[in-house]
Amino acid sequence: MAQLQRLVVTPAQISNQVCTLTAEQQHYLSRVLRLHSGDRFIVMDGQGQGWLAELIDPLTQAKLLSAIQAETELPLAVTLAIALPKGNGMDEVVRQATELGVSRIVPILSDRTLLNPSTQKLERWCRIAQEAAEQSERQFVPTIQAPIAFLSYLQDVQSLSAPEGQSLHYLCVARRSAPSLLSCLTASSQSAPAPASITVITGPEGGWTEAEVEAAIAAGCQPVSLGKRILRAVTAPIAALALIAATHP
Ligand code: SAH
Repeated sequence: MAQLQRLVVTPAQISNQVCTLTAEQQHYLSRVLRLHSGDRFIVMDGQGQGWLAELIDPLTQAKLLSAIQAETELPLAVTLAIALPKGNGMDEVVRQATELGVSRIVPILSDRTLLNPSTQKLERWCRIAQEAAEQSERQFVPTIQAPIAFLSYLQDVQSLSAPEGQSLHYLCVARRSAPSLLSCLTASSQSAPAPASITVITGPEGGWTEAEVEAAIAAGCQPVSLGKRILRAVTAPIAALALIAATHP
């Protein structure tokens, strides 16, 4: 089944074991992929459900043949809160973070963030996340939130940090003495109860200001290191997520 094309639809398109395709999806399946009536593909609702589906005449609908029991998700919810990188840097971060299993991406506006993105950017990132989820055979398409100021975000962190230990927030800091993210993850994966969610927070090209680091620590974030080298703002989140995926297979 690995070779079958995957298509993410909205749950509202599915009713009575039939998926009604949008004009764009019809075009994609019949014109781009050249599928015909009777050809099979996989329909995902982006929220955990998947089906083997068969295209039916007149190619505006697909019959859902059987539910697919695949499990490619990480065993816990992982959030990436990322100070927006320059230019189009976020596009590739969204793609790779989705491949690595992230559940939610929160674009952060920090003191040294240069970009204040348009709503079209947010739509573009959602589309990229959907494509990457299809490509990496995930059951869930990560949610991408509207950009939020770092200090407002930290208020959410503070309220989420209770109950103790259930929700871990790691602030990636360069050039500071901090425990390695790997050692923190190894310790938390062996603790009981296991954390229900993990958040990694990465800074912009210019780094965090001292005040931001202090505010994050006060809100309950643990500062962590990703090694002795200074990673780019687009590299650090991927390195951090790869460590989470490796320690929580
Ligand atoms: N210009 C800054 C570095 C910014 S790197 C300086 O020279 O200090 C962009 C972001 O990536 C940082 O804010 C941090 O969140 C993350 N990062 C980069 N290298 C890191 C490392 N070795 N350990 C932890 N976080 C790192």
